Amino acid sequence: MSHTNYHICLLPGDGIGPEITAEAVKVLGALGDRFGVAFTFEEALLGGAAIDATGSPLPEATLTAAHAADAVLLAAIGGPKWDTTDPAKPRPEQGLLGIRKALGLYANLRPVKLFRALEGASSLKPEYLEGVDMLIVRELTGGLYFGARARETGVAGAATGGGEGMRAYDTMEYREFEIERIARTAFEAARKRGGKVHSVDKANVLESSRLWREVVHRLHAAEFADVELLDQLVDNTAMQLIRWPAQFDVVVTENMFGDILSDEASMLTGSLGMLASASLGDGTALYEPSHGSAPDIAGQGVANPLAMLLSVEMMLRYSFDMQDAADALASAIEDVLVEGWRTRDIADADTLPQKMVGTVAMGDLVTERLGAVKQ
Ligand code: NAD
Repeated sequence: MSHTNYHICLLPGDGIGPEITAEAVKVLGALGDRFGVAFTFEEALLGGAAIDATGSPLPEATLTAAHAADAVLLAAIGGPKWDTTDPAKPRPEQGLLGIRKALGLYANLRPVKLFRALEGASSLKPEYLEGVDMLIVRELTGGLYFGARARETGVAGAATGGGEGMRAYDTMEYREFEIERIARTAFEAARKRGGKVHSVDKANVLESSRLWREVVHRLHAAEFADVELLDQLVDNTAMQLIRWPAQFDVVVTENMFGDILSDEASMLTGSLGMLASASLGDGTALYEPSHGSAPDIAGQGVANPLAMLLSVEMMLRYSFDMQDAADALASAIEDVLVEGWRTRDIADADTLPQKMVGTVAMGDLVTERLGAVKQ
C-alpha cells in the first residue's frame, strides 16, 4: 500500500481504553507530520461502552466502520460493571470475539521484545535475555479450539470401575488452505525481520501436525526458499523459550499451541503494559495491546500507554508498510525508557532513580522524541 491517507477505526472500549487511545492519536499525528501521511480517525463503540449506549456489545455501525477502515485500533474492553453470569445478558467479550470473527482474523501476531532498560522486570536472568526479539504467529480460527467437540453420557466402559459414564472429546483439525495462509503470514513476516521461521508442531504424534509440516515445507520450497525454516516439537519449544529465547525470530504454530506458548513467551519481558498484538486476515487488520481494560486504575491518568503505542508500531508495519515510521516509533519508545521514564506498572525498585510519569506525560515524551521533521 502506498497511500498518503490512512483511515483508522478507533475502538477505545472501556476502563483505561479511552486514555491510552488518546495517546495513540497524538503519536500518530506526530508521525503523520514527520512522514507526510494523513491519518484520519473514526471512533466506534465496542464492549461495555457499546452495551450502555446501544444494548449490544458490537453494534452494526461498529462493524461497518471497521470494514470501511484501512486498519482497526482497539484499546480494551470489559469491567465489573458488565460482569454477569446471566447467559441472556450481553457481555463485553462478545464484542471482541464478534469483531475478530467478522473481520476473518486468522493470524494473531505477538512480538516479544526485550527492552534493555526493563530487563529487571523479567523473571529470567539478564544473560538469558540478551538478543530476545521474536514474533509469535498463532493460527487463530482453526485447530483444537474450533474442531468438533462433544460430551456424551451413557457410554459403556467410561465410568470409574467400567460401567456407563461420560466421555468428552475435542478435535484438532486443519485444512491445507488454513495451514498455507498462516505459514505465508509467518514467512512474509520473517522476510521483514530476521529471515528465520520455527514451525512448531507435534508431528511425532498428531496427524494434523504431519499435514501442517508437509504444507509448511511445500510452501517454503515453492515461494520462500530465502527464509530459513526449522521444525520444532511443541514440548521442546516450551523448554527452548526459557533455555535460549534468542534463537527465535518468527515462531508459527497451531491455535492452542500458540495460545500457551505466546503467554509463556510474553513473560520473558515481564510487563503486561508493554505487549502489543496484531490480528490479520484477508481484509482489515486489528491491532490491540495484550492487556485488559484495567478498571482498577481507570480514570486516574496512570495507565501505561506503551503497549498501545507498540500496537500502533505494528499497524504501521503490517497494514501500511511504513517501516521507517515504525522504526522511528520503536526507537522513540526505547529512548524514553533508556532515559529512565516510567509509568507505575514498569517502575522497578532495583534500578532507581526513575522518573515517574502518568499516561499523558508518557505519550508526550514519545511524541517529542518523534519530532516533526518532514522526510
Ligand atoms: P487487565 O490486563 O485489565 O489488568 C491486570 C493488571 O494489570 C491490573 O492490575 C491493571 O491495573 C494492570 N494493567 C493492565 N494494563 C495496564 C496498563 N496499560 N498500564 C498499567 N497497568 C496495567 O486484566 P484483568 O484485571 O484480568 O481484566 C480487567 C478487565 O479487562 C476484565 O473485564 C477483562 O475481561 C478485560 N480484559 C479485556 C481484554 C481485551 O480487551 N483484549 C483482555 C484481557 C482482559
